[in-house]
Amino acid sequence: MKGYVKSVLENLNKKYYWEKEFLQAASEVLTSIKVLVENDPKYQAQSILERVVEPERTIIFRVPWMDDKGEFHVNTGYRVEFNSAIGPYKGGLRLHPTVTLGVLKFLGFEQVFKNSLTGLPMGGGKGGSDFDPKGKSDNEVMRFCQSFMSELFRHIGADTDVPAGDIGVGGREIGFLFGQYKKLKNVYEGVLTGKSLNWGGSLIRPEATGYGTVYFAEEMMKTKGEVFKNKKVLISGSGNVAQYAVEKCNEYGAKVITLSDSNGTILDTDGINAEKLQYVMDLKNCKRCRIKEYTGKYKSAKYFEGKKPWGIAKADIALPCATQNEVDGKDAKALVDNGCICVAEGANMPSTPEAIEVFLKKKILYGPGKAANAGGVATSGLEMSQNSMRLAWTREEVDNKLHAIMINIHKAAKQAAEEFGTPGNYVNGANIAGFRKVADSMIDQGLV
Ligand code: NDP
Repeated sequence: MKGYVKSVLENLNKKYYWEKEFLQAASEVLTSIKVLVENDPKYQAQSILERVVEPERTIIFRVPWMDDKGEFHVNTGYRVEFNSAIGPYKGGLRLHPTVTLGVLKFLGFEQVFKNSLTGLPMGGGKGGSDFDPKGKSDNEVMRFCQSFMSELFRHIGADTDVPAGDIGVGGREIGFLFGQYKKLKNVYEGVLTGKSLNWGGSLIRPEATGYGTVYFAEEMMKTKGEVFKNKKVLISGSGNVAQYAVEKCNEYGAKVITLSDSNGTILDTDGINAEKLQYVMDLKNCKRCRIKEYTGKYKSAKYFEGKKPWGIAKADIALPCATQNEVDGKDAKALVDNGCICVAEGANMPSTPEAIEVFLKKKILYGPGKAANAGGVATSGLEMSQNSMRLAWTREEVDNKLHAIMINIHKAAKQAAEEFGTPGNYVNGANIAGFRKVADSMIDQGLV
């Protein structure tokens, strides 16, 4: 069995050499589960690794749409249905010009193990398009979403595949997608999560990923006798995840001093308090403006064009909440040198392998996205339960369930890391705990 992981990775690298992000994610997961799969012959005997790295199904389609001037455009739409061993495919839709099949395969692959960690019955998938919603009118976004769903509706359903939001897909887009699904299928069902409260959404779903990331960081910090109160926090991004991470940090008495977007970073050493956060929410969610505008309103802030938050100021905690590979080896070193004791990932795979190596070597608390940002999909799972039961839980009920799930994910990752001889290594712990359940379910279900 020795060499099993190496040979699967070598074949994968040959077969999909251009899918850089997918290969990065696969290499991280397979390397950390080596100690499990190479010590139990059943995994190799059943070709579990060869099967788990291939999506069960990939759908690629044309998305034609018309802009406000009557001109035609064509984008590519995707849905990667990665693994349904423990439940219907579940995972977000991303609308961003950087979307490729390789990016969605990385996200879908991560989603499989993340969903398993939540303890809820959800398989993994991911989808989206290279469409860029920035600068588009509401009507253009609606026409795009309708065209996208005109193909996707054939492949999804409340018991088959339940997409949600991700970068570029928030409440507005979920609304347009749901409307078109309902028209084409003539059924009212919980086929998407992240819906508005009036028509089947769950309280706390918008907050869930950001809150959950802070809950996870809190659990990691407890193991070292640390708390959020009076700590300085660097956050990247200024979208859904970043906004609610700021809100929870403020509630815990910490001071968040940065936010960013793809153009640059703002530093506000006075802290982004509730009033300033509300301004950011209006700026980003309603007016869809750049974060730079913050400095026009708050003179305490400085703007750094083209810069990321990591080397800008000293801080105790970092929460990357923007996108993949946004923290490289140099950034990680700057964070550690500046006294950072805890990194919890709100985004998916925001740290490069070199950055992770720095965090692990320096033994700071490092919570990988698969575990730390699982609160979003966990609450989507709670939205699915409420939809099936046709009832709505209160804000407190959902938040308490989310908090309990994050505590359990932390416990599962911590215990698995200890069981396999790498205490404190949440990368190994999360991958092993997430993988074991999926792999054993695949074995139970035979060669499918
Ligand atoms: P949003 O679209 O709401 O916000 C994304 C933020 O990240 C924006 O500020 C955006 O800036 C910034 N960003 C996007 N791409 C880049 C880039 N290439 N470089 C720098 N900044 C960038 O998305 P979410 O907040 O929902 O998602 C953020 C991350 O969290 C993603 O990795 C997503 O996969 C992950 N995630 C989200 C969940 C959710 O529930 N929403 C659940 C679990 C994980 P700009 O406006 O300039 O594009």
